[in-house]
Amino acid sequence: MSVYRNYGQKQTHQQIPVPGRTDQVENRAGGYVFKLDLWKQLDRFLILGNEANSYYANKEELMFENVKCLAACVDADPQRTIARIVEVSDAGLAIKNEPALFALAFCAAPIHNPDNATRKLAMDVLPQVARTGTHLLHFVAYLDNLAGWGRVRQTGVQKWFTEKKPADLAYQVVKYQSRDQWAMADVLRLARPTPPDAVYDAIFKWVVDGWEDETFAAPPEGLVDSVIYGFELAKRAPTEAEVIDAVVKYRLPWEALPTQHLKSPEVWAALLSSGALPLTAMLRNLGRMTSIGLLEGSTAIVELVTARLVNQEYIQKSRLHPFAVLVGATTYAAGKGVRGSLTWSPNVKINAALNETFYLAFQNVVPAGKRFMLCLDVSGSMSWEGSLINNTHIHAREAAAAMAMVTFRTEPETHVMAFSRRLHEADLKRDDDLDTVVHKINRMGAGGTDCSLPMVVAKNDRKAIDTFVVYTDNETWAGNIHPFQALKQYRDAMGIDARLIVVGMVATQFSIADPTDGGMLDVVGFDTSAPKLISDFAGERF
Ligand code: CA
Repeated sequence: MSVYRNYGQKQTHQQIPVPGRTDQVENRAGGYVFKLDLWKQLDRFLILGNEANSYYANKEELMFENVKCLAACVDADPQRTIARIVEVSDAGLAIKNEPALFALAFCAAPIHNPDNATRKLAMDVLPQVARTGTHLLHFVAYLDNLAGWGRVRQTGVQKWFTEKKPADLAYQVVKYQSRDQWAMADVLRLARPTPPDAVYDAIFKWVVDGWEDETFAAPPEGLVDSVIYGFELAKRAPTEAEVIDAVVKYRLPWEALPTQHLKSPEVWAALLSSGALPLTAMLRNLGRMTSIGLLEGSTAIVELVTARLVNQEYIQKSRLHPFAVLVGATTYAAGKGVRGSLTWSPNVKINAALNETFYLAFQNVVPAGKRFMLCLDVSGSMSWEGSLINNTHIHAREAAAAMAMVTFRTEPETHVMAFSRRLHEADLKRDDDLDTVVHKINRMGAGGTDCSLPMVVAKNDRKAIDTFVVYTDNETWAGNIHPFQALKQYRDAMGIDARLIVVGMVATQFSIADPTDGGMLDVVGFDTSAPKLISDFAGERF
């Protein structure tokens, strides 16, 4: 076919911008796509982050691109920017809280943002975004590097300490004494909050100076029943039985225990039954607890663990993110830690529970009942060894397949396809466990990228589809037709007003979705609300 047939509004080669469209930009693969709306780019940054390199750009370059977006959002509407940071963080939509903490520090710093009211607003919402001690330490590290301390920032950090209830504050300072070269004692010394009463005063003093044996012998009033006293008891306990007593009586977090006791099944059993082990910590320590023989067979403690793993209310309340579950479930099934030398024989009951946890960790989906085609980009850039999401062992391609499973299992009429420069059936089954999904997807694809293929092939095969869902990094370049043009041709040929949902798997500013077409939607990969958005949009509920 003549090359001139690939230049026009109906069909344009992907390496050429569509004539008449001034809203296209060149992606990093040399194809032309749309520039994502600023607020949607902010969402991708907050939800996915960019802590790992992508195939086409290193993490520093991606960070800089996202900081530019953040700055533009602050310029356009600082209140909206801060509100969205709070919303994403508080609703637990994001894989990690780091981008939200950084973004909030950016809003609180005077380097970009000249407006004092905005800086104050950012500091006022700090407790909603920095909910734990580790969040605070990370926030302070970002703030310190961005702009150092000023009065607004100092007051905001003071409030973090003085507005927490004493019991919660004590728990946070025991659990997170230091992170990333920042210690709670440093933060207190810099922020210098005025203690509201004698209990706060005693907590602050403990953080900064610790306790001598004399103070331990006669603890300050108000701290006798505190987790701080429990921590000091466990530190001095001569026997394991006394450590266990302290765990149960003071509900000590596992981080507060002397490390030699973390090899003991009895200590972990006490942590589990005292309710002192939060869900995320339990998930992270399943391998360890199995390797020391605590989680074998179907004992009462295994029952307790699995019951917690499938308790939806508890999962939501804990803000357990499905991506953390994917990482945890695939690590647990592998029987060895990603780092370190720990090995274990996975318990089948726990494996099965973890597979349920994954689906329960997303927001509830009401099926749209439409005809879906879920299309997984399995090209080289989605599976490249360096493109691990958030420094885990999970590639964008594996994450995309796991995401697709949520819709696959809820929508009755669904084809699952994989594509690079060809499109084929993905051979996934509804009851495949996550480990199987990951293994299957890793046997597919590699090579170039053509995101128009789902619509092109469905049109040629006369396959009736209401909603195409494409999971991709939007680095398409290899087709004779832009994806949005292919959707238009599909609609015309089939007489179906088909919709296209683009699930962005890397935090860039690119999208194959035409922003002027109401039948196309961008969602962020691994947003906990993404499967719900997919079904709601497909079902024309918004
Ligand atoms: Ca690619």
